[in-house]
Amino acid sequence: MTQFTDFGLAQPVLRALDEAGYKTPTPIQAQALRPAMEGRDLCGIAQTGTGKTAAFALPILHRLAQNPRKAIRRGCRVLVLSPTRELANQIAESFSDYGKHLSFTNTVVFGGVTISRQEKALANGVDILVATPGRLMDLIERRSLTLEAVEILVLDEADQMLDLGFIHALKRIVKMLPKERQSLFFSATMPKNIAGLADQYLRDPVQVAVTPVATTAERVTQEVIFAHTGAKQALLNHILRDPAIERVLVFTRTKHGADRVVRGLEKVGINASAIHGNKSQPQRERALAAFKDGSCRVLVATDIAARGIDVEAVSHVINYDLPNVPESYVHRIGRTARAGANGLAISFCNDEEKAYLRDIERTTRQKIPVGAFPEGFNPPTRQEAAEAAQAEERRPAPQGQRPGQRQGQRPGGGRPGFGGRPGGGRGGESRGGQPGGPARSGRPQEGRGDRPAEGQGRGPRPDQRGDTRAPRQGERPRSSGGGGNAAGEGRAIGWLDRFPRS
Ligand code: AMP
Repeated sequence: MTQFTDFGLAQPVLRALDEAGYKTPTPIQAQALRPAMEGRDLCGIAQTGTGKTAAFALPILHRLAQNPRKAIRRGCRVLVLSPTRELANQIAESFSDYGKHLSFTNTVVFGGVTISRQEKALANGVDILVATPGRLMDLIERRSLTLEAVEILVLDEADQMLDLGFIHALKRIVKMLPKERQSLFFSATMPKNIAGLADQYLRDPVQVAVTPVATTAERVTQEVIFAHTGAKQALLNHILRDPAIERVLVFTRTKHGADRVVRGLEKVGINASAIHGNKSQPQRERALAAFKDGSCRVLVATDIAARGIDVEAVSHVINYDLPNVPESYVHRIGRTARAGANGLAISFCNDEEKAYLRDIERTTRQKIPVGAFPEGFNPPTRQEAAEAAQAEERRPAPQGQRPGQRQGQRPGGGRPGFGGRPGGGRGGESRGGQPGGPARSGRPQEGRGDRPAEGQGRGPRPDQRGDTRAPRQGERPRSSGGGGNAAGEGRAIGWLDRFPRS
């Protein structure tokens, strides 16, 4: 089997890999390393969880090590664009980890935090800059950053970037880059608009793919249960009473929907936390840490909040609401298919969502088996459900809700499923953090990529450290099997058997 040592990677990079316990490349790494090390452009289809970050970070570090030179003032040699803060932080941390025996600097910039600290970090130039598009544009407009000396561009999660409305910022950014550069492009899915973008930005790219949409879905055991809106909470409560469901990610379309589900679970004594863009950073970190260490087995999330979060061994994904974008469905259920863990996906579908279900089945080219209500479950009548919903409506607004925002209202009029798009303009994530303003002024805006860093309990955010060179050992969450998604393990689990029988 191919080993990292077979690729001729720079010694300091190999050493870091060895210390992380990574010997065998994941499939995406095995395909991407050689061409990327040679300076070829790359178009990769891979989801989070496949080891895609190392697939670009390792060859980049190798190339920088082959050709060390000082970054220009206010410039960077490598620019990595990420749609969200969480992902940006994780990427910067990966560069720090894999580059810990090299002396390259890396910095991460995103909106919602004070810009002056980021300007300071960039003043003398950095080797690697990881950025969300809106804040990057702000820094350029303030002349705190120039892209004229970028040698390598990485566009990560391109599909998500477009979904979040970053297309205009992206186009402006790419125009400012030198024509002579290496470009590495990654996307979990490759719909037509993304393929078009790749065509435009890449030169004779090598194509690498590990998770085509259809095959991901094929590998997860799935079931759809038809339930009217008012029955969904009771159904979820019933299913989650089964302790065999060890670690479950529940997806809702909206942030308030997520909060409502958590309250509904708590009412019946099931401990759960929500993670979404209206939560403060400490709240998110706490929720994620509890989910990771198993003290809280139910995490309720919106699509965006869950992206890029690297949690092992999610036993179940429950789609409380079906997403209206088929690719989101694939992302969601892919959360159970990590590191070779067995995963089961259960979707609740009401009458309005049947159209979404059809779209999903068309995209994944498979029919999702229809499941019955679990034994012992008596769905509430529509009348009972309507009364419960009214009682819920009368509740005072939860703390931390944005002023002027009502329950269920999406900021910026964004379409459901994406937690709200920017209400026009360039879709930049920087509005939450006024330039020079106080850190984390304004509430994080989900869907703009400007949510506070998850941090994942990993200490200060890279932008707070300025330079992320300092190695933080023992922080990799996983010691093996990063290529779980690509492993293609079949799942033939009779998950309905796990339903409560009482
Ligand atoms: P990513 O898809 O980049 O988010 O990576 C998912 C996880 O896989 C991360 O926790 C990585 O540290 C881990 N990982 C990356 N490459 C490898 C590898 N070759 N062997 C084992 N784990 C890996």
